[in-house]
Amino acid sequence: MAANSDTTEYDYDLFTIGGGSGGVRASRVSAAHGAKVALAEEHRVGGTCVIRGCVPKKMLVYGAHFAEDLEDCQKFGWEIGERKFDWKVLRDNVLADVDRLEGAYTETLENHDVTIFKERAEITGPHEITLASGKTVTARHILIATGARPHMPECQGADHAISSNEAFHLDELPKKIIIAGGGYIANEFAGIFNEFGCDVHIVNRGDRLLRHYDEAVRDRLLQISTMKGIKFRFNTTFEYIKPCDEGGYFVKLSDCEEERADLVMFAVGRLPNTEGLGLENAGVELGDKGEVKVDRFSKTNIDHIYAVGDVTDRVQLTPVAIREGQAFADTLFGKGDPVAVDHGCIPSAVFSHPPIAAVGMTEGEAKNKLGSVKVYLSDFRPMKNVLAGRNERSLIKMICDGENGKIVGIHMIAPDAPEMMQAAAIAVKAGLTKADFDATVAIHPTMAEEMVLMR
Ligand code: NDP
Repeated sequence: MAANSDTTEYDYDLFTIGGGSGGVRASRVSAAHGAKVALAEEHRVGGTCVIRGCVPKKMLVYGAHFAEDLEDCQKFGWEIGERKFDWKVLRDNVLADVDRLEGAYTETLENHDVTIFKERAEITGPHEITLASGKTVTARHILIATGARPHMPECQGADHAISSNEAFHLDELPKKIIIAGGGYIANEFAGIFNEFGCDVHIVNRGDRLLRHYDEAVRDRLLQISTMKGIKFRFNTTFEYIKPCDEGGYFVKLSDCEEERADLVMFAVGRLPNTEGLGLENAGVELGDKGEVKVDRFSKTNIDHIYAVGDVTDRVQLTPVAIREGQAFADTLFGKGDPVAVDHGCIPSAVFSHPPIAAVGMTEGEAKNKLGSVKVYLSDFRPMKNVLAGRNERSLIKMICDGENGKIVGIHMIAPDAPEMMQAAAIAVKAGLTKADFDATVAIHPTMAEEMVLMR
């Protein structure tokens, strides 16, 4: 990028605050480009995704899904003896794998000669960082990659509730859990706890789940989740949570009688971690939610301070943070042209039971933006569900530009939908048309073949 005319000597070319997905990628690649790099992480290297997010959550999703597999396999001729689930075995195995991954992330940084400070860091001068131990270092560039934390809304007794952070460490599973929120985390953990046999109640302040997803898949998830026994309350807020002498909590929701639950979990969004970093002193501009404001090259309003990942609140997804970290490092220390991340057409998934996956515009968005759209829908019962006697239908929806047939969105809820979506998203990103899909021969029998057979 722009040549740096600063001839001052610094301890490091780059100091990264935060060792999550974005910070680790940025630091490792910068070091590989020849920069002298240090990174500070106050908790554990790996950040939200590896330590208390995507990775351990997906393992719990796998663990939970065995409940259905063990039930369904009997129709496939398998005789299963007594079934017993031991939460502590799964929990401890998952946490052990998280330890392994933390080690792998740390090793990657060390192999690239990135100096790791396992402590909190604060910006104390234009190019100065002070560590919790009192040590002060200087850096030519500073990268903020401190991620986000669960938002814990204010209600009386809110501190009795857990967030997803604690869900991975529970001593035992709750008999009854009330989950606040209707987004990713609420639906994913509702599925997990429900498969483990907990009585799950989702309480949402609004009237819809997963607001940014297509209405058809949202409705289908609600229908299947209800069928599986998850209870939903919409347009409902928390009044108080108080401990109950016999254990658990009394919970008072708006328009409801007080009820007892063993656990309350808040999953109502995540807030950027920008407090106590010295950003105000450094003159770094923050947005309304406290997020670091950056340009397309992840640069803040201060020339040598950058930010990537959830702390910028652009798109709170691990692969996006990784791309931002990579682009930052290539731009600042690489030999090629500056690289900006394209935040358009990002595929995503919700690992609910069954999962949802999507790319591009919803039907509503496409109608508003394009006017003329053509919608194709396949509503089917997967072969495995038919034989298992599981009355659970899947849905694949394709939205095309009515003018030229270009696919502008694909939405699905189906077993393995995220796996199918990764490939389909390439086609949407590349601007392929419905005719291109039609010209492709199906792989039979699969669920994915529905995508090339919709008429
Ligand atoms: P989401 O943004 O997905 O959902 C937040 C939910 O909480 C919405 O239903 C929202 O309602 C509700 N809500 C927001 N504020 C309040 C409040 N003050 N009181 C009550 N309800 C409120 O947040 P999550 O916490 O589930 O996840 C955080 C982020 O983490 C996600 O946005 C996603 O980017 C990322 N994530 C991604 C995953 C994946 O890729 N599979 C998995 C988990 C997390 P309303 O709709 O009315 O605003």
